[in-house]
This record gives sequence, C-alpha cells and structure tokens, in this order.
Amino acid sequence: MNRTGLLIILSSPSGAGKSTLARRLMAWDSSLSFSVSATTRPARPGEVDGEHYHFMSPDRFRAMVDSGQMLEHAEVFGNFYGSPLGPVETAMREGKDTLFDVDWQGGQQIRASALGSHVVSIFVLPPSLTELERRLRTRGQDSDTVIAGRMEKSRAEISHWAEYDYVLVNENLEETEASLRDILTAERLRRDRQVWLGTFVKTLMEEKRA
Ligand code: ADP
Repeated sequence: MNRTGLLIILSSPSGAGKSTLARRLMAWDSSLSFSVSATTRPARPGEVDGEHYHFMSPDRFRAMVDSGQMLEHAEVFGNFYGSPLGPVETAMREGKDTLFDVDWQGGQQIRASALGSHVVSIFVLPPSLTELERRLRTRGQDSDTVIAGRMEKSRAEISHWAEYDYVLVNENLEETEASLRDILTAERLRRDRQVWLGTFVKTLMEEKRA
C-alpha cells in the first residue's frame, strides 16, 4: 500500500453544488469510493437500494449504531440517516479514499471519531444567497415550500464554515472542480499519508554508488 486512505468530507448548504462536485470528482478518479448513506426513510420512486441509500428498518439501524457500525448518524424529521463504517474500513485497507456528502453534524462526528486523523474536510459556499436560491429553483427538484425550508437552513449550515480544512466559493463550476482536485492531489502527497516513504528512503540511503 502506497498511502493511507483519506476520508474526504464535502459539506455545503443545499444547492451550493456539493452533489455536482462530488459526481465530477468521482468521474475524475474512479478509485474514489463514495459513502452511500443508510436511512430508515422509505425509498422514493426511482431510488435504488445500495446506490442512492442503504434502506433499512429502524431496528437494524439501531443495532448498527449500538454495535459501533455507524461512523456518524443523525435523526432528521423522524427518520435516521447515517454513514456505515464497514465500506470505509475496507477502502482504507486498500489505500483508497472515501468521499462523504454530509452536513456539518456528520462532519463533526466523523472528525471526532477514531478515524479523525484521516479526514480532509471541504466546505462549499455559494457566491451569494440570491444565487443559492436561483440554483435551487433551476435544479427543479423542490417545491416552493421545500426551497424556503432549505434557504432557512442554509445560514445554520454556513455558520459552521470555519470547522473545515478548506473552503471553496463555488462561483465557476470548472474552477471549483479544479481546486477540489488540487486539494486531493496535495493531501495525498503529504508526508504523513505516505506510509511507504520510510522504507523507500532507507533503501535510497543504503544504495551503493555505481
Ligand atoms: P447540492 O448538492 O449542494 O444541494 P447541487 O449539486 O444539486 O447542490 O447543485 C444545485 C444546482 O446548482 C444544480 O442544478 C447544479 O447544476 C447547479 N450548480 C452547481 N454548481 C454551479 C455553479 N458553479 N454555477 C452554476 N450552477 C451550479
């Protein structure tokens, strides 16, 4: 293994472009593993189990939390959501990075977990709240009421920006994506992530001159 796997946390207020950026990053690097959340809410039409969410009963969810198999979890409007630990451990063993699309609460819990030292966290800001609302509208996924609710929540999410390692203002999508790649490339090259270096440098020093 060349290096340890990273836990890359991407957070933003809804509509700032987190999912779009996550999708682009996954397309750029096929070795990235995306953390599919577990949820107790019923699947909506078109949602595929294991792809959009791991759908499960409240009993199974609770059992996973109780046995330490959820890296983070939260209750939202009476439903539970969480990030299963198993796939993350597998990816890390293989030296692969895992991408998390979680809110500030999920971010805090993952940072506070035993895997916290492997976390790289990135917060995505919209250029303005007017633009945030425009993006929510053009996405065409939510009703006016849902959009109002998302806008209401956006200030609370944004207030946690300073807890993150990196902050990107997503004005131009191409530029933000490029910055995201740069962050990943640099973080992967950090000395403390490259567990193989000690042995390599030892060999280098012992090499006989021809
Ligand atoms: P989130 O996952 O943060 O809720 P999305 O990725 O769904 O946000 O993006 C919200 C909408 O904004 C989508 O329609 C997306 O295509 C658009 N969008 C994302 N980034 C930009 C950008 N830099 N400029 C303009 N539109 C963007």
